[in-house]
Amino acid sequence: MVSEFWDKKIETMPSKDLKELQLKRLKELVKRVYTKNKYYKKKLDDAGVKPGDIKQLNDIEKIPFLTKQDLREYYPFGLVCTQMDDIVEVHASSGTTGKPVVGPYTANDVDLWGEVMARALYANGMRKNDRMQNSYGYGLFTGAHGFEKGAQKIGAMVITISSGNTQRQIKVMKDFESTVLACTPSYSMYMAEVAEELGLDPKKDFKLKLGTFGAESWSEEMRNNVEKRWGISAAEHYGLTEIIGPGVVSECPYKKLHINADHFLTEIIDPNTGETLEPGEEGELVFTTLTKEAFPAIRFRTKDLASLSEDICDCGRTLPIQSRIKGRSDDMMKVKGVIVFPSQIEAGLMQVEGVSEYYQIIKSKKGDITELSVEIEPTEKRWKEGHLDDLEQKAQDEIYSILNLHVPVKAIQPKTIQRSTGKAKRVIER
Ligand SMILES: [Zn+2]
Repeated sequence: MVSEFWDKKIETMPSKDLKELQLKRLKELVKRVYTKNKYYKKKLDDAGVKPGDIKQLNDIEKIPFLTKQDLREYYPFGLVCTQMDDIVEVHASSGTTGKPVVGPYTANDVDLWGEVMARALYANGMRKNDRMQNSYGYGLFTGAHGFEKGAQKIGAMVITISSGNTQRQIKVMKDFESTVLACTPSYSMYMAEVAEELGLDPKKDFKLKLGTFGAESWSEEMRNNVEKRWGISAAEHYGLTEIIGPGVVSECPYKKLHINADHFLTEIIDPNTGETLEPGEEGELVFTTLTKEAFPAIRFRTKDLASLSEDICDCGRTLPIQSRIKGRSDDMMKVKGVIVFPSQIEAGLMQVEGVSEYYQIIKSKKGDITELSVEIEPTEKRWKEGHLDDLEQKAQDEIYSILNLHVPVKAIQPKTIQRSTGKAKRVIER
């Protein structure tokens, strides 16, 4: 019988043993960064913490947070805790909001990355006979490389097409008989649109069975649409350059995000006070990399909002569970006193029959007041039927039922919103 787990011993480890392993690794980590890196030594000295003070897991709360600001200050290699010539690979984030974040890896780090990605992809259902079309952009960004390493560890075939040139994507998907598609969820929807334009049926004319999607926050409703449109199972991936890239969690067949907690220690904090929150409470995700060598992060503040759960999952994995990301705290908008995340608007829109997956949220400022409106593309079929004010009203009602806020919705001609081959830009300012 084929195992359901990539690494059964770790993935089904009793929680007590897992915590012991985490503590042992945390102690080693703090000692390592204290002796190997000036910045970390100063940070710990300033906080009055010595490596020997870490006696139990929650002693981690004595250590100050690591922030994006710190990473910028020590750009590019100031936080490296090994010799520079031990580094064999470097990645970086796009740096759209300042200096890019740099992710250096030793050979062991690269191996670890492949291992946690294999665990995640295997949990999604990928096996050795699969062919993964890797439509994340190859480059400094971690995405494509993480998926490649994991798939190759499983022994699957990696089709290294990168993003863009969408007609060619469709041809390759058909000719090479891709069974797994790896890209952003929004790009998968654009590919389906192009396939249809070419006279192909996404559900029938391809061998695709699984989508491994990430690098973008998307609603559960969008996931349902992607699954229906392609006739596949769509899995969520989550990770970040500061931690390792993709591979921080593994989504199981029950669509629960199990944290690869033998390598990544998670806390949820109140974003305003920094106080640690209880399981079930929503707050900011904070990660500590327990085993990474070149660039260990201790208590890195992600700005991503989620909660932890102590549920027992029917899949048999004992690794702790985190909720899907509600949004980045940077994406949070406050409108008439109501907190709004783009994913909540998306969730409303995707309930409405005849609304396509293409929409944009328009944010405008009148003095100090933020106002929102939404432009949607109806499906071609719905557009031709007319009476679009009905559709707009339904969309407004769905958004209202989620947010308790009136957000005007306007239907615009299909195929006018820009298509994305990577991360979709959902919010624009006017
Ligand atoms: Zn599970």
